[in-house]
Amino acid sequence: MENDNRDNKMEKIVSLCKRRGFVYQGSEIYGGMAGLYDFGPYGTELLFNIKASWWNANVNTREDYVKIDSAIFKDPRVWEASGHIGSFSDPLAECKKCNTRIRVDKELAKIGEKADEKMSEEELNKVFDANRDRIVCPKCGKKDFSVARAFNLLVKSNLGDFTNDNNNPTYLPGEASQGIYLNFKNVIDTTRMRVPFGIAQIGKAFRNEISPRSFLFRTRELEQADTQYFVRPNENKEAYERIKKDRFDWYLSLGIKEENLRFKQHENLVFYASDAWDIEYNYPSLGFDEVEGIHDRTDYDLTQHSKHSGTDLSYTDPYTGEKYIPWILETSMGIGRVFLAVISEAYDEDELGGEKRTVLRLPSHLAPVKVAVFPLLKNKPELVAKAREVYGMLKKEFGAVEFDDNGNIGKRYRRQDEIGTPACVTVDFDTLEGDTVTIRNRDSGEQERLPVNELVKYFRSLLG
Ligand SMILES: [Zn+2]
Repeated sequence: MENDNRDNKMEKIVSLCKRRGFVYQGSEIYGGMAGLYDFGPYGTELLFNIKASWWNANVNTREDYVKIDSAIFKDPRVWEASGHIGSFSDPLAECKKCNTRIRVDKELAKIGEKADEKMSEEELNKVFDANRDRIVCPKCGKKDFSVARAFNLLVKSNLGDFTNDNNNPTYLPGEASQGIYLNFKNVIDTTRMRVPFGIAQIGKAFRNEISPRSFLFRTRELEQADTQYFVRPNENKEAYERIKKDRFDWYLSLGIKEENLRFKQHENLVFYASDAWDIEYNYPSLGFDEVEGIHDRTDYDLTQHSKHSGTDLSYTDPYTGEKYIPWILETSMGIGRVFLAVISEAYDEDELGGEKRTVLRLPSHLAPVKVAVFPLLKNKPELVAKAREVYGMLKKEFGAVEFDDNGNIGKRYRRQDEIGTPACVTVDFDTLEGDTVTIRNRDSGEQERLPVNELVKYFRSLLG
């Protein structure tokens, strides 16, 4: 029962996102392309506000972080050094029932069948086929898998390769954070940043997912917001705890309830990592799953790039002369997942004045529209003129202000409720007499009357 409700909520959110111009299926007029989404007018505003909040919390309010914005395309050797070219080539099969992917070689090894990554796909599938009745989906318990395929998630391109067969592919980033490692030395050489300090970036990443799913949760093109904090070797623990707390608190500032967030420690660490935690959100239909990873990566990244590039990425302490490869504490979040978490959390249905409504209870700093201004009737020029005047005044002050004269007032309120607008202002005949307007609050539905010349002050306080 619980699960039915949750699935239902996800469907409602997808539908609201489409209906109100938050998120559209990518290439929709051509039938849509799986795992790709376009953000519409309100979605783009919400996305922008989430990013602004992230920049603010991680960089603008701190002394020890700077921003960069690196090119999408990088020297192909970057992906050798990062391990993406080697380690993403696992023989995978997918459960046809629940889409869970398994490492076929590992599953075969578990039941004592000899299989390894050096086998061809054909050889491996032969062993796999002979043992299909013994391999069970770890998630749903079914035994109905696709064929096994060696699969690399990196997306290839022919940028800079002028042969016809693309012998020397460049790759789209498998993760955005590599740009930070590549520019560590540049930042040290050209700014006054000294270890410990952090570099933050928002960038795109691409993954050739076999089965993108769950709306914005698993997509083929994604945007990531990353910070990499550089510390002296072994001086990682205190900074790591500080970063974990800061990142968790940021989600609370987005209006996400603590009960829908949790930390989960990684059980299996990659060999170089010292510690790794995820922040998980309780998504509709998925339950708790990752929204952000916080990783203690030791000196792995800068050591790898020193080796593969031949450029020494060690750091010399300007005071002590000590030379070392800094350790890195990483935070990496998928912005689409945050977007989904924020909308899921804000989504609500209630009854107002005997009528059912859908409302997005977004915190005002995230709301795509801050205030909407209506003339009571659209066919009364004096009301429209006055409403335009109030609209102009508020728009100049708050930017994201909307004017709407379409349909009856109740319908306009419901439309603004669905996109999360914190308050609406209505200009009526009393406005023409006494220069006061009605302000209607999104969450309570309550209305109050205020002089026009007090509106800016009122909304400055309401919107923070
Ligand atoms: Zn399954």
